[in-house]
Amino acid sequence: MRDCDVLIAGAGPAGCATAMLAARGGLSTVVLDRPQPAQSWAGETLPPGMENLVRSVFGADILSEINHRPAFGTRSVWGSSALVETDFLANPLGEGWILDRARFDAVAREIVLAQGVDIIRVGHIGPPARGSSAWHLDLGDGACLRARFLVDASGRSGALLRRLRTRRIAADRQIAILSAYPDDGDTYCGTTVEAVAEGWWYTTPLPHGRRVLAYMTDADLWRHGTRCWHELLRETHHVGRCAGQRALFARPAVYPAGTAQAEHLAGDDWLVVGDAAMSFDPLSSQGLASAIVMGAKAGEAIAHPDRGEAFAAWAEEYRMLFAEHSDMRTFYARLERRWPHSAFWQRRHEPDHAAIRLRGTATC
Ligand SMILES: Cc1cc2nc3c(=O)[nH]c(=O)nc-3n(C[C@H](O)[C@H](O)[C@H](O)COP(=O)(O)OP(=O)(O)OC[C@H]3O[C@@H](n4cnc5c(N)ncnc54)[C@H](O)[C@@H]3O)c2cc1C
Repeated sequence: MRDCDVLIAGAGPAGCATAMLAARGGLSTVVLDRPQPAQSWAGETLPPGMENLVRSVFGADILSEINHRPAFGTRSVWGSSALVETDFLANPLGEGWILDRARFDAVAREIVLAQGVDIIRVGHIGPPARGSSAWHLDLGDGACLRARFLVDASGRSGALLRRLRTRRIAADRQIAILSAYPDDGDTYCGTTVEAVAEGWWYTTPLPHGRRVLAYMTDADLWRHGTRCWHELLRETHHVGRCAGQRALFARPAVYPAGTAQAEHLAGDDWLVVGDAAMSFDPLSSQGLASAIVMGAKAGEAIAHPDRGEAFAAWAEEYRMLFAEHSDMRTFYARLERRWPHSAFWQRRHEPDHAAIRLRGTATC
């Protein structure tokens, strides 16, 4: 049986940021990660202004042009069929970044290891059991870990949520029907977004010559399949042209991409962070920076001498972030009025306040 102060499930951006600050606070920290296929698929971008936040947690080396690509702007077809460009050159916060997610995560893990954190690769994590003063976790191969504090940073799967007696409250059932392929699209270096009758598209040129193209809609509105993905693409005003010819032969897969938050964020000896705690609409490009910043703040709160007060402040800040995100999401949805009978847009014009205005911690 091995002992540690903090045990974190998930070595994504949220788990790494939490581990970084918990270890810096003097706590022995172990991260468990379940290897998954390379996650460079979503074509995540960091908007202007996020670079310094991300570097403040992981250091300067986390973002380099060798691995990632600067983003010089965004283009959108939203509220009308015109293509409108927002150039980051005029933005006082500077450029954004288009990430190679697999590389980003790999470098974050190296930085965390150098901080003295142990990362253990596991195929399976048994349900955590609470002893009198610690959590016990069976790693499946006879190995067992004992930890005084438990963190669920396992992304949208929220692998430990049920055991922590919390659950995710969904604001929608959005999915991404998405494909990445060798890029033969236009040369614009940024994301292009286009609203359509039952959802929206985005395409982004990835680092290293690939491109991602995704159609976002609600799960119940997606009844068609691949053929329809290509047909819908042909009906777009601009995205189809930007995405290149190879998009017509791409084979998309479906991923969850909804907006949700955990009912409770923390208890006396556990917390939930990153997408497991709050998943943001990909339209906002807010998920990564929020996972990293709130992960770092979670790590600080765990190491804080007055943990209860630190958790309350952390959870309050997290809830506010989600409420602001939800307001912004509604604002952008209401700019799109071309399809008054569309279920997708109607749902977003009238947000589910019960799902948005959760308060504090379970305990928190
Ligand atoms: C289509 C789409 C587009 C997006 N675009 C953007 C964007 O442009 N900009 C942006 O900022 N955000 C974007 N996001 C959101 C962003 O991807 C997430 O917010 C971010 O990855 C959250 O980080 P995380 O560490 O919480 O979770 P994850 O990145 O999901 O990491 C979770 C980790 O936990 C591991 N894990 C899972 N289950 C277990 C388990 N049982 N035990 C141990 N480990 C486990 C996984 O292998 C993974 O390493 C997008 C999301 C989607 C779906």
